[in-house]
This record gives sequence, structure tokens and C-alpha cells, in this order.
Amino acid sequence: MASLGAASSGQRIGMAADHSARSTGLVRLGVGLAYPCLRARGHCRTAGCSATPSSNRSDIGRALGKLVGKGDTTRITFDGKVVGAGNETMEASGDDTALVDRDGVRQVLESREDSFVLSAEEVERIMGFGHFESIDELLRELTRNTSHLSLPPISNFRVSCAALGESGRVYVGVNIEFKDLPLPCALHAEQFLILNAFQHGESAISKLCISHVPCGHCRQFMCELSRSEDMQISILGREPEVFTLPELLPLRFTPRDLIGEGARFLFEEGHNGLVWAGDGSSGGAPGDMEMAQRALAEANASYAPYSNCPSGLCIRDQGGKLYSGCLIESAAYNPTVSPLHSALVNGLVGGLPSWQTIDRVTLVETEGATVKHEHLIRECLKFICPDAEYSVLYAKTS
Ligand SMILES: [Zn+2]
Repeated sequence: MASLGAASSGQRIGMAADHSARSTGLVRLGVGLAYPCLRARGHCRTAGCSATPSSNRSDIGRALGKLVGKGDTTRITFDGKVVGAGNETMEASGDDTALVDRDGVRQVLESREDSFVLSAEEVERIMGFGHFESIDELLRELTRNTSHLSLPPISNFRVSCAALGESGRVYVGVNIEFKDLPLPCALHAEQFLILNAFQHGESAISKLCISHVPCGHCRQFMCELSRSEDMQISILGREPEVFTLPELLPLRFTPRDLIGEGARFLFEEGHNGLVWAGDGSSGGAPGDMEMAQRALAEANASYAPYSNCPSGLCIRDQGGKLYSGCLIESAAYNPTVSPLHSALVNGLVGGLPSWQTIDRVTLVETEGATVKHEHLIRECLKFICPDAEYSVLYAKTS
């Protein structure tokens, strides 16, 4: 069994006393699901948290289900059947499929459990219902109707975006801010989306729709993407204009400027070849080992061509579910996304109930790294999930 290397002992982040009176911040929706309020997600620390329905998170399935509204056709097709308005089912004929409309779309979308991603099969089925004229329209409507998923407790400025991947999957991204932490700790919607796509093994993004004009930080971050020049970018309110990244960011600084022609781009295959550092002795419970292995796998998938200090991180919620993410660097350094942010995106995509439910965090860094995330992440965790236990483990190049 692999060793855990020179592991620091798990430590509580501290500040628990500050949170002893914290409200759970949960509000119950009509559909029987509890979601944390915006303040709670941001680390609400006071009792009597004022959750409002408008601040609830819901998945894109329900968001789009609302969007398409109630069916206005008498018959719809679903999996080769024609379903009447009274829910009676008949065999479909070729002509009947043309009558399909909103209810079919709603059935597909509302039956989904995960947020922020539509599989290629789901996209194909949704488009097959004929409600959306084109994939561009689907992306526009997703962008328009998912801004409520953002978490901006500082700016209250909601940004959303949706993209079609080369795989046929559709991804959604929203902006996330962390109250009490400096502004550079915020994650932009486009970065969220790119992380989401990366974590699903996407190979390239072909179309991207954004609710607002993308900031310079995001335009720069997009330069890391493989075949970013081919991406078609649209902005709500600017339709039907479509932009390319070279149009939005001429004379841009790219990975090739820093590394040369052989530069690896994000979404391209890569493995960092890390193994555990240390003497082979293993520490921790089996659950800890699982987190450690997952964080190591993330470190190996990490995109760190500039520092050559890959790192990965795994978080566990109180229900025992794991979420993970890795460092994603930018040639311009500052737009770099930390492994913590990456794991938090994975958490939101995977249904993490709230930041406060994180009870354990494991970071894997390279031994002797010149760029370390350990200390900055510890400071962030004090505000995001102060009761969580935090361990740092070390790996080395094999
Ligand atoms: Zn931005």
C-alpha cells in the first residue's frame, strides 16, 4: 500500500467558538429539499440567518423545467412513445414526433439529480423535442436562467454561462465569492465552467454563452484552453454577434509565450507522475487513505506547467461524500485556480449541501515545492469551513 508520506497530523482549522451559535441556514423548499441560504453557504456565523427563497440553489434541471413552462401541445413523444395530455401512452408514429414540445423537455430536465452538467445523451434528447431551435438557443436559455445558482455575497452581481463541449455535453458555470476573504479569492463564472468541463474530461469547448461581457481576467484564463481560438463566444444582449477569443483578446499572452511551442494546453492529456513521498509507512484510517489517494490522483491530473508544482485536494462532507479538484494554472499567474477552489466547484456540481458540511480536507503537494498552497488554503478554510480537519500530504515525482 502506498504511504502517505510526511503527513502533517490532521488539524482542526479553529474558530469553532465563533460558530457555536451559527444557524444552519437551511430553508425548506416546496419540493421537500433543503438548501443552504446564500449567507450560510458563504459562512453565515450568526443565529437567525435570514434565508429567503430567492437565495436558494436549485439545479439546472428545475431551472430549465421552469423555463419551458407547462406543455402547450396535446401530444408529446418520450422515448419513442406519444404521451397524451392525460398521460395515456400510445405508440409513436413518424408524424407524431413533430408534435413533441415542452413537457418532454421538462420530463428530461426535471428527472435529473446532478447540477451544472447535461450529458450528451440528455442534450440530444432535449434537442430532439424541438423546443429549442438550435444548441445556441439552449445555451442562451441556460445562461439566462441559471444566474440564481451563483453565490455572490459580496457583489450581489450574478454571472452565469453555459457551454457546449466537443463531447456533446453542456456545462453551466456561475460566479462564487467568499465573504470575509479578499476579492482575488472569488471565482468567476467562466472559470467555474472551465473547471466543471475539465473535471468531466472534456477535450475542448466549442461554444460558450456568457450573461455579461467577459472580464479581462477570464479572457486571459481562456487562453489556457486547447483550441481556444476556435471557440465561438456569445454574450447575452449582443446576439446574434459571435466572437472568437482572438477578437476579444488580441495580442494575448498565451502558454506558448512562457513555455514555447511545446506548451501543453488545458484539456490535453497529461499525468504528472507523482507517487507518495516518505518511507512507505501508512498513517490514518481507511477513509483517510481514500481521501489521500483521491487528492494524489488530482495532483497527477493537475495543470501546473508554470510552477511544476502540481497539487490536488479532496474534501469530505459530513455524509461521507468526497469531492476533489486540482490546481489549474494560468500563464499570467494571477488567474490561477487553487486546488481548493477546484474542489469546491466539484462540490457544488456534485451536490455538496453547504460549505459548513465539509468536515475534512486533504491537500497533496509536491515535496520541496517552490509554490505551496498549504498556508493560503489553511487561511481560506478558517472562513469557509472552520470546523474541518485539515491534513497536508506530500508526493514526489516518480
Ligand atoms: Zn471574469
